[in-house]
Amino acid sequence: MTAPTRPWFWLAVYLVLVSTPLVVLILAPVPAKGGFWWEAGIALGFAGLIMMSLQFALTGRLRFATAPFGIDVIYYFHRFLAYALLLIVLAHPVFLLLDNPGLLDDLHPDRISWPIFSGVASLGFLLLLVISSAFRKTIRLPYNRWLRIHLVLALAAVASGFAHMWAIGYYSATPSLQWLWGLIALSVLAATVHVRLVRPWLMTRKPWKIRELTPEQGESWTVDLTPEGHAGLDFQPGQFAWITVDASPFAMREHPFSLSSAPRADGSVEFTIKELGDFTNRIGQFPVGTTVYVDGPYGVFSMDRHPQAPGYVFIAGGIGVAPVLGMIRALAERGDQRPHLLFGAHSQWDRVPRRDELSALASRLNLTSVPVLEDPPPGWTGEQGWMTREMLERHLPENYREMQYFICGPQAMTKAVEGFLHELGVPMRRIHTELFDMA
Ligand SMILES: Cc1cc2nc3c(=O)[nH]c(=O)nc-3n(C[C@H](O)[C@H](O)[C@H](O)COP(=O)(O)OP(=O)(O)OC[C@H]3O[C@@H](n4cnc5c(N)ncnc54)[C@H](O)[C@@H]3O)c2cc1C
Repeated sequence: MTAPTRPWFWLAVYLVLVSTPLVVLILAPVPAKGGFWWEAGIALGFAGLIMMSLQFALTGRLRFATAPFGIDVIYYFHRFLAYALLLIVLAHPVFLLLDNPGLLDDLHPDRISWPIFSGVASLGFLLLLVISSAFRKTIRLPYNRWLRIHLVLALAAVASGFAHMWAIGYYSATPSLQWLWGLIALSVLAATVHVRLVRPWLMTRKPWKIRELTPEQGESWTVDLTPEGHAGLDFQPGQFAWITVDASPFAMREHPFSLSSAPRADGSVEFTIKELGDFTNRIGQFPVGTTVYVDGPYGVFSMDRHPQAPGYVFIAGGIGVAPVLGMIRALAERGDQRPHLLFGAHSQWDRVPRRDELSALASRLNLTSVPVLEDPPPGWTGEQGWMTREMLERHLPENYREMQYFICGPQAMTKAVEGFLHELGVPMRRIHTELFDMA
């Protein structure tokens, strides 16, 4: 049976799961008579705990559930829900105190019982989790260190939350309710074991090797990987994968990169990587033959999901050219003759990664290439400056509203271009974006 792929199905699943506590509160035998604030406070506590548990599933990269949305959208949703669930969990004690202000006494450090302490601890872990994530870039916490801290805090928040619920015993005393909450706690454990142990173990069975490393314009590198003893990846051009270079897949040192190659018969793949930070600055130093682990493919940024279009418009800024290159290569290999358009926004002409290959591909396709340079060389007659609505209007064909748009580049450019396309009447469903900054 194929997994349901419609977004509304998964949204409905999410809402049903989060509202389970309300159903439980209506149907379960009432353990003690409470007022409105009391019952609402307890419902919020349960809803918060289930939302915390579901946060694990959201970042578990479950292909069947992420495919209809795209994994970047799921990560944004995860981030947005973290704020919502923090508010819900904070409202839980506030509502209980509104019903019974005397409870404040139970929080006194000398009298606090462990069931209450575990609840306070859960809230504390959650607060730390949200604050450390919101300010990760401000406090310059390296991504991979943050990821490890994030996982520990998340497990601590959810474990102490469940301990609090079981120890308090409201709506969890009957065997059927114990089963329900036990099942939810087990799912969190299963999601963590799957993502952090089972999937890395599966990856160790399908290693890759660096076959070639080529320096490119614009401080970027082409990394060519060949599969070792397996068939490679089955992917759609434009998708991405997480790669771990010269480290165990259990080490949580993976980074996401778009596949810049089209699918190849020998299973090898290529990434185009820009030097930007700790890991990417070292990419050119790994020797040929280094072992790499690849987790993918992921993402919905691919023209193969919209095969009926009369043509494609690619808008790439800087290293955002990587997934676009993969799609253009695939179109060229298939001998596609539809009219396509490529806007390439770059700072300077000699910093355009794979510039020569892109012009060679354009000549094999019915592809019009429009380079847009921020800092053009003397005598440049092409487009220059930032991308504007007028610039788009100058080059888009008459039937531009029917074409499919793929935008990948800096966030500011992506947002601006999306806005221009809306103003020009391009339907939202024809505009697809990939942001390299989903974390
Ligand atoms: C879907 C997607 C596709 C991408 N494709 C490409 C590509 O084709 N070519 C390319 O050059 N870059 C691509 N990137 C960006 C690339 O992942 C980051 O530049 C790289 O991970 C930075 O790591 P660093 O240690 O060198 O830099 P750092 O200075 O450590 O990180 C810079 C920023 O990159 C992000 N980042 C760092 N590590 C990770 C990680 N493990 N997972 C998620 N985000 C991280 C964080 O927001 C961080 O603040 C892509 C990103 C995403 C999300």
